[in-house]
Amino acid sequence: MFTPIDPHLHQPQVYLDANATTAVLPEIADIVSHTMQVCFGNPSSSHITGIKAKHLMEETRQLAKQVIGAQTGHILFTSGATEGIQTAIVSALLAIKEHDIAEPILMYGATEHKAVPNTLAHWNSVLGINATMMAISVDQDGLLDHDFIAEHVGQALMICTMAVNNETGVCQDLALLEQVIRANNPSVAWMVDCVQALGKLDLAISETTIDYAPFSGHKLYAPKGIGFLYIREHSPYTPFIAGGGQESGMRSGTENLPGIAGLNRLFSLLIDPQQSVFKPHQQLHSYREQLEKALRSVFPKIVFNHRFDLSVPTTLNFAVKNISSKEIMDLFDAAGIRVSAGSACSSGASRSYVLDAMSVDNWQSENAIRLSFGPAATQVEIDEACKRITQLKSVLASACLVISDSQVTEQEVCALGLSQYKHQGACCWLFVTDEKEAVIIDPIIELLPRLMNVIQGQKLTLKAMLATHQHAHDEPLASYYSLAGLTQPDNLDLLGWPNQIDDIQIGRYQLMRISTPGHNENSVSYLLMDQDKVVICFCGDLILPGGLGRTNLDDSDPAQMYDSLLSLSQRLSSDSVLCSSHDYAQSFAIDWHSQQAINPLLNHVVTQQIDKQEFIKQKQASDQSLAAQVEYFCGAVVSPASHSLVEKSLPAALSLIAEEGAILLDIRESYEHSASQLATLLNINEQHVRNVPLNRISDAIWQKRLDPKQSYVLICRSGNRSRQACLNLQQLGFEQVYNIRGGLALL
Ligand code: PLP
Repeated sequence: MFTPIDPHLHQPQVYLDANATTAVLPEIADIVSHTMQVCFGNPSSSHITGIKAKHLMEETRQLAKQVIGAQTGHILFTSGATEGIQTAIVSALLAIKEHDIAEPILMYGATEHKAVPNTLAHWNSVLGINATMMAISVDQDGLLDHDFIAEHVGQALMICTMAVNNETGVCQDLALLEQVIRANNPSVAWMVDCVQALGKLDLAISETTIDYAPFSGHKLYAPKGIGFLYIREHSPYTPFIAGGGQESGMRSGTENLPGIAGLNRLFSLLIDPQQSVFKPHQQLHSYREQLEKALRSVFPKIVFNHRFDLSVPTTLNFAVKNISSKEIMDLFDAAGIRVSAGSACSSGASRSYVLDAMSVDNWQSENAIRLSFGPAATQVEIDEACKRITQLKSVLASACLVISDSQVTEQEVCALGLSQYKHQGACCWLFVTDEKEAVIIDPIIELLPRLMNVIQGQKLTLKAMLATHQHAHDEPLASYYSLAGLTQPDNLDLLGWPNQIDDIQIGRYQLMRISTPGHNENSVSYLLMDQDKVVICFCGDLILPGGLGRTNLDDSDPAQMYDSLLSLSQRLSSDSVLCSSHDYAQSFAIDWHSQQAINPLLNHVVTQQIDKQEFIKQKQASDQSLAAQVEYFCGAVVSPASHSLVEKSLPAALSLIAEEGAILLDIRESYEHSASQLATLLNINEQHVRNVPLNRISDAIWQKRLDPKQSYVLICRSGNRSRQACLNLQQLGFEQVYNIRGGLALL
């Protein structure tokens, strides 16, 4: 059941994702509701209720024409822009199916919304047209290559471009584009996606030869499920939806009158010069400047991915080196600021194809964040947005994401202990003592800038940078030192260990090295000793959480692995924490005892239930079954069982805290935790709230800062990360751990 959110209990949000969708304005929502309840007629009915509905619809059509400057042509109400795009493309392609072009092409801008090329490709195939799809490249400013268009448009069956880009806000010069298209092909069907232009650019559509222009209501304060399509007079048209003949037979199905009424009010607001809802351009520019200033104050090295003078003022797309878009998104989300990574309209993308088309640097595309507001934004909202963005400064500094001069207390401690850093399937570990001495184990080249940021930002002394083995996918040690900006000491072996030295002193701990071949011939494990006890074992690919390293590589040997496991078992205690160089099972933290409990093969070796020959047999069989799984390149794993996981609703979790003394364990990153003030938000005592990010669970375990007898309710943004952490804690023997279903998002 969907429970409406009570806006008074909800964390107030700053919504800066208007290019994805907007909230419906109250005056628009009022008329939509009125049309659903009072003026609810069917425009096809001939009684008075129907006539009123029809009048409202036709009035809206006229207003639409006025808003987009269409003295002639048709306006068709659709469910949104995607339907408008289908209708336009099907109409154009059906009309030109019988062409005599030798090598026909379908042209579209490389930065179009995916709805456009995907629809073109779909109907090109379904209708059996089989024209070549041709993306029009853009320059580094995102502007279409007009020479390319001039050269090819003569063979085009259709050309699709956009007025304003949804990721960057970059505007195409439509007048210039038209000259190029028409000079080379006066009759080609031309669609311009105007979704992001409505309310932001003045459109005089009948003064152009644009054949089709789709629009969408929800991008500009109208409800979802309503949009409209402009069709130029005499341009080809085939109904996309046939049926009862509504919309003069152009689009059947009972019209979405509440949506149309919403558009009616929207258009009236856009047309009325007296209204104060939509802000003049100058004001929108000033909003952009204010946001830019706030962002620069937090991220001194910010790069904007587009030219402001070529973009609508309502979109800012930026990237920060060494801070991933996911981190910024999570941080902003925790602070109640909604932004999007790349494009929220095409979900799942980890980099931006729009920015790739503009040939920006890789990191800019990977780290891109889009911040967008609507033209009805108020100064109060922008002030609040700037305030919250600026407040992130100290949170970021304390999380070492940017180097800061400030001596915030958390900054002093944020990397103390053990931290896990992950890149794709690989793990690297940073260990820092109270004396600020540090060691990096299994460094990953992509993560080095981040690690150095922590080391330099906190003035740590890096005692060693060590690999547990020579990974098949590795760079030589010298590359790590040079990328870190450090001089490599002379006397290191291939794995970074100083020659002729038995142990490295790190604060009050000793780091020892033992040879543990098996996965590789030269594999070693590093043992962090607190007096005589191994507190942490960095075991590389010998043991993986829930599994063992692969032994079918060129220099692997299962017999050696057997000996290595026995040799480790003589040194480790049941609570020694294992740190592997992969974590395919997403286990985060594992100790020697729990590793044996979930890994029968290891357990059988350690308890000597099987001999070396039997181990080799079983290991080879398991390696063979692994052969096809390239994603588990370095070893097999078993995922933690999830059957015993107990999920709680937020209210049930809160009563566990209030009545039974459970601790709320926030497993988000520390910067997300600091940005969201959970105790105040959930009205619970500060003492009942703890923050242990996923990458610090190992730290909490070896330092015994989590008590297996205590009950914990785990929380994150959506309930996914906390579910994983619950499974992890269960593996470690915690019996009373509960996940908060849906996380903070359902608050
Ligand atoms: N075109 C552009 C430029 C867009 O930004 C979007 C929305 O994400 C669409 C098309 C699709 O619009 P709708 O959600 O109305 O189908």
